[in-house]
Amino acid sequence: MPESTAAVPANPRCIAVLHIASEVAPFIKSGGLADVAQALPAALRRLGHDARVCLPCYKRVYLEADRRGVRWLPQPMIIESGGVDHRVGIGLVDLDGLPVYLLACNELYDRDGLYGPSQHQDYEDNARRFSVFSKAALALPGAIGWAPHIVHAHDWQAGLVPALLERGFNRALPATRSVFTIHNIAFQGSFPPHDMRLAGLDPWLYNPMHCEHFGRFNMLKTGIVFADRVTTVSRRYAEEIQTSEFGWTLDAVIRHHAYKLSGITNGIDPIAWNPATDPHLPARYDVQDLAGKRACKQALRSECGLAPYEGACLVGMVSRLTEQKGVDLVIDAVSPYILAGRMQLVVVGSGDLYLEHRLHALQQRHPGWVYVWYGYNEGLAHRCIAGSDLFLMPSRFEPCGLTQMYAMRYGTLPLVRYTGGLADTVVDVTTGAGNGFTFGPVDLGHFSSVLDRALGLYQYFPAEWAAAQRRGMTTDFSWDRAAQHYAELYRSITWP
Ligand code: ADP
Repeated sequence: MPESTAAVPANPRCIAVLHIASEVAPFIKSGGLADVAQALPAALRRLGHDARVCLPCYKRVYLEADRRGVRWLPQPMIIESGGVDHRVGIGLVDLDGLPVYLLACNELYDRDGLYGPSQHQDYEDNARRFSVFSKAALALPGAIGWAPHIVHAHDWQAGLVPALLERGFNRALPATRSVFTIHNIAFQGSFPPHDMRLAGLDPWLYNPMHCEHFGRFNMLKTGIVFADRVTTVSRRYAEEIQTSEFGWTLDAVIRHHAYKLSGITNGIDPIAWNPATDPHLPARYDVQDLAGKRACKQALRSECGLAPYEGACLVGMVSRLTEQKGVDLVIDAVSPYILAGRMQLVVVGSGDLYLEHRLHALQQRHPGWVYVWYGYNEGLAHRCIAGSDLFLMPSRFEPCGLTQMYAMRYGTLPLVRYTGGLADTVVDVTTGAGNGFTFGPVDLGHFSSVLDRALGLYQYFPAEWAAAQRRGMTTDFSWDRAAQHYAELYRSITWP
C-alpha cells in the first residue's frame, strides 16, 4: 500500500535518508537526542534532501500526534521477534514539512515511560522493544513504497539497524547504506546473551568482534561494528571515546573502527531558541538591545522567589541531575560565593535522588538565594536560560551538549568543562575573543577557581562581559552547517 510521499525537495542530487531514533522533539524528549532527531532531518530537507524520521509511538506520542493530525495507514506491519509476531501500525504526521512516522505497537510502547517506569529503572523487555523497533524501522520503507539511500540510526535503541541491514534483513534495500550516530557512549543497551535471539541475528555473531561485549549482548557495539559510517555529535568527542577515560570500555572497539568514525558538532534549532521571538519569555530581546534580558532576569528572580539583590550574578543550570553533569561539584562549590552575596543559583532538572536531596539541602541552607525546580519544565528551562547571567555545565564528559549553545544565543555566558562538544563550542574569555569560561580537570579546586574568575568579570568588568555576550549571541550554531557535513558523509557512501 504505497502511501503518497511528502513532496520531495527539488534537488537533482537529492539524498533520501530515514532517521531512526527512539525520541524526537516535540513528540517525546528525555535529552538532546530528541532535539537532534528533529532538527537534523529538518535541516537536511532545507538543503533539498528527502529526509524523514521514525520513532516508537509511546503513550505521550499518541497525544502529541493527535494534536497534530496524525494519519494512520490501513495495514499494520507484522514484525517477528524471538518467535512472537508483533503488529506494528504506521502513523504519519507532517511536522512543518518533515514526515514523521510513528511505529505503534501497544504491547511494547503504549506506556508512560520511554525506557523504564522511572529514570532509575529500565523495562525488562527493552531488548524486545528495541529489536522490534529496529526491525520495524527497516521494514517501513517497503510498507510506504520508498527506498532510502541511507538509514541513519541513532544510539543503542537503533543499534541493530546497521547489523540487520548488512545481514540482509530487508532484501528490498540491497543498496541502502547505514550511518550510526553515538550520542552518548555511556548508554549501551547491554542485555543477557540469550536476548540476541530477539534481534534475529545469526548466533555466531555473538563474539567479541561483533555483538558480544564482556559476556553481554551489546546493541551500541553492534551498531558501531556493522555501520558503514559512525559519527559522534562533536569533533572532540570522536577523539575522546578512543581513550579509556571516555570510552566506557568500548574504546578499543572504537579505535578498531576509527577508519569510519567522524565527529560532526550538533547545531541548535534557531527558531525554537530565539530570544527575539521566544513565547516562553516575559520579555524579548536581541543582540542590539538587551533591556528585555534584564526584564527576564527580574522576572526569573520573582518566579523563583529569590531575594531582589541586584549585585548578585544570577547563575543557572538546566540539566539532568547526574554525576556526568558535575552537579555534585556545583553543590560543593557555591556556598562561599552565595554567602558573600556574589551569586544566586537556579537549577531546573531531575535525576539521581541523592543529588536531588543534596540540592534540597543547599536550598534550605540558602533560602532566597538558591531555587531548585525538580522535573522537566520546558518553559522554565527557557526562562532560566534567558534570565541567568552565567550558565553552568561542569560536565565530566559531554558528547555535545546543547544547552551551552542555547545559553550563548540568549546572552548568558556558559561556564563549562573543556570536554567533548563543550570544547568545540565554548571559547574562554582569556583568549580575548571568547564567549564563555572553560576549565580542565574536574575537581573542586579547578571548578571554584573558574567560578571565581567568572563572578569577578561579571562584578568588575561589565564592558568585557557585554562583549563576550555579544560574541556568544552572534556565533553561528545553526544546523545548516552540520547538516551540510552529514550530506557530504552520505554522499561519500552512496551513488547518485
Ligand atoms: P543531554 O542530552 O546529555 O541531557 P543536552 O545538553 O545535549 O544534554 O540536551 C539536554 C536537553 O534537554 C536540552 O534541550 C535542555 O534544555 C533539555 N533539558 C534538560 N533538563 C531539562 C529540564 N529539567 N526541563 C526542561 N528541559 C530540560
